Amino acid sequence: MRLVLDRPRCEGHGLCEEAAPALMHLDDDGELVLDREEVGDGDVAAANAAVRVCPVAALRLA
Ligand code: SF4
Repeated sequence: MRLVLDRPRCEGHGLCEEAAPALMHLDDDGELVLDREEVGDGDVAAANAAVRVCPVAALRLA
């Protein structure tokens, strides 16, 4: 599976980073960086949590 970010939609809330800190982080400019777009089996739960917690639905798993 792969994490896909709709960057224009992202507002930099950072809630996804709290849900999945191994997969993403906000950089110094408040831009979300996906550290690993490919999501392994062990990270699916965290990735799903990040998708669910985003208040503007900017993340999805494909
Ligand atoms: S929670 Fe959503 S809006 Fe906030 S940084 Fe993550 S993807 Fe962007």
